[in-house]
Amino acid sequence: MDATNVRPEVRDLPAYRFEARPALVKLDQNESPDDLPAPLREAALERVAAAEWHRYPALHADDLAGRLAARHDWPADGIVVAGGSNVLIQALVVLSGLGRRAVALSPSFPLYAQQARMLGSELREVPLGSEHAFPTEAVIEAVATGSGVAFLPAPLAPTGNAVDPRDLRRVAEAAGPGWTVVVDEAYAEFAGSDHSALARAFPRVVLLRTLSKAFGLAGARLGYAVAHPALAVELRKVVLPFSVSALQLAVGHAVLDAPAWIDERVRATVAERERLAGALRDRGVRFVPSVTNFLLLSVADAAAAHRGLLERGVLVRRQDHLPGLAGALRVTVGRRNENDAFLRAWDALPRVNGEPHA
Ligand code: PMP
Repeated sequence: MDATNVRPEVRDLPAYRFEARPALVKLDQNESPDDLPAPLREAALERVAAAEWHRYPALHADDLAGRLAARHDWPADGIVVAGGSNVLIQALVVLSGLGRRAVALSPSFPLYAQQARMLGSELREVPLGSEHAFPTEAVIEAVATGSGVAFLPAPLAPTGNAVDPRDLRRVAEAAGPGWTVVVDEAYAEFAGSDHSALARAFPRVVLLRTLSKAFGLAGARLGYAVAHPALAVELRKVVLPFSVSALQLAVGHAVLDAPAWIDERVRATVAERERLAGALRDRGVRFVPSVTNFLLLSVADAAAAHRGLLERGVLVRRQDHLPGLAGALRVTVGRRNENDAFLRAWDALPRVNGEPHA
């Protein structure tokens, strides 16, 4: 079938591809390497067991929103919860980008551009600056006139470097009245960054957060937006009612009962990131300085290095298909033993001119 019944914006879009591969050491999706500890899983399961499965859940995850709001000292009616921040990226395009413009950095998280294309926004991709720096002036120019939605990951992804809050402030100041500026803070916990002051000062700035990384809940699917309550009212119209299930809510509540575990996971990941960065530096490997839970490396032949690592049981992610990222491989910071396994596999790769080759 040629699918001519389908909108061309959808038909012409390549499907979001992710090839799951079995590997002993899985460092390809920026997940938490540790699942919830047993007592926390027990507590989550008790909450799941106590949930009313035959009733609809809260319309908009109101109780969980209240608890997330407290973490940011934010009004509860300014939090919009969804089944992953992916869902909110789509919702934000519908909210402010449909029939208008969408701005995405290039390279950045591919879903921004993909959703903008699918929903028929006029997409403007803004290249990163030299050394993958946040392109402040070009973003300012892109949002100064017209209307739409701009997606700005901070820290940057998939490069992992930090964004200076003063640059984001300049963008917020320069954005015309028709713009929604989305600061995607997916990896903020590892950077110790928090842009809520910006969102407080500029009601058109929306923050995105996820429970998939620092909170260790990639499988449970929870994310949220931090927005001015007036904007949150509109965003809740776009996110489908009852879309966060009672089961997701139960797991979310359980993990919020254990803030010390979350903090400890973040601390351990940051310590391992620095150790891994040091080990790569010692080996003369080129990588982007990261404030996240991953490192973007640059090799002579990303395909060969990826294959060579996989043959040695270590799965990382190729990023060399993205603009400006020739030779890029992304490695998630895992547990200490996993990072050691990665380094051992790296050292065992065949070398050409000192660089891992095949
Ligand atoms: N934003 C960025 C920058 C990401 O890297 C990711 C996931 N890799 C997401 C959003 C989506 O996260 P979630 O699991 O909450 O949908």
